Amino acid sequence: MTDNCPECCTGPNDPVASRTYGQQRTDTYRCPHCGHGWTTRRDKAAYTPTAAPAHQTAA
Ligand SMILES: [Zn+2]
Repeated sequence: MTDNCPECCTGPNDPVASRTYGQQRTDTYRCPHCGHGWTTRRDKAAYTPTAAPAHQTAA
């Protein structure tokens, strides 16, 4: 998932690394314009088209 640089607001930038921890996904980015690095954590359920059960256990 792409994201815009929080420093210089350019984008969208592709993540250089992506990891999934349970229901959370962490994407790591490195801005090609200013070199700023950042990570974004997202709840996977919020980005799933079909709503997941509230108490779904991690696979
Ligand atoms: Zn930047």
